[in-house]
Amino acid sequence: MASTDETSNDRQTMAYDSEVAPGVYRFGTNRVNWYVIEADGELLVVDAGLPNHWEQLVDGLDSLGYSLEDIAALILTHGHGDHIGFANRLQKTANVPVRVHSADVALVEGDSEENMREVVWNLWRPAVIGLLLEFSRSGGNPSPVETVESFEAGTDLELPATPQVIHVPGHSAGSCVLYLSDRNVLFCGDALATVDLKTGRARGPQIMPMFTENTKQAVESLDQLGSLGEVTLLPGHGDPWRGEMHEAIRLARSRK
Ligand SMILES: [Zn+2]
Repeated sequence: MASTDETSNDRQTMAYDSEVAPGVYRFGTNRVNWYVIEADGELLVVDAGLPNHWEQLVDGLDSLGYSLEDIAALILTHGHGDHIGFANRLQKTANVPVRVHSADVALVEGDSEENMREVVWNLWRPAVIGLLLEFSRSGGNPSPVETVESFEAGTDLELPATPQVIHVPGHSAGSCVLYLSDRNVLFCGDALATVDLKTGRARGPQIMPMFTENTKQAVESLDQLGSLGEVTLLPGHGDPWRGEMHEAIRLARSRK
C-alpha cells in the first residue's frame, strides 16, 4: 500500500501548463502547490514551493512565452519553508520583490523555527514519511530571503491582477489569503488545504492538521471569507476546489 502511495506522490512535476482558472497556472508537486498569475502582460508568483522547483519556474515561464523579467513580484501567503523555496534565488537572479505579511517577515528572513510537534507525532504514517522525504530531496532548506517587503491586511496590492489581501492568522501569525475579484479566485495558502498531508487523502477544504500554529484562531479567521461567494479555491496543498465559500468553511469546521 505504501508503495502505491509513494509512486503517485513522487510524481514530481505537475503540468506547468495546467490552467486552473483564467490566467492562473498551477505548479509544484502532488504535495506542494504554487501559482503564477498572468495579468496585462505581467506575472505574479504566489508562493515559491521548494528550492528545486526553480527549474519548473524557468521552464514553465518559457512555455507560457514569458521570462523571469516579466515577474512583477513574488507574494508569499505565509512564511513557512515549503512556500519560500526558490524565493531567494528569484530575488537574486531577477531582482524580484518578495512580499509577505509583516507578522511573517521574520520567518522568511530565517529567524524563526516552525512547529514540528505534530509532524514528529505522526512520523509512523507513510504519507508523513513521504512528505519529509520530498522535503529532504528538494534541495535542502530554503535560503532566507535578504530583502523582504511587508504588507498589511486590507490592502489591494498595486500589482498585476490587484490581489486583495485578507489576513487570516492561525496557521501562522502572518497567514494571508489573496483574492482576485476579477476571476473569483482565492489563493488560500495554508489557511485551508484540500488534502490531509497526514494521510495523503484528498478530503476537500479543511484546516491543516500539521504545521498550524493556532488551530482555534485559524478556524475563527475563516469568518472573514464567508461572504466571498462562489470561488475557485487554490490551496498550498491539494487540488483546486470550486464552490461557495461558505460551504468550504462549513466543511472545514465539520472536520475539526
Ligand atoms: Zn504553512
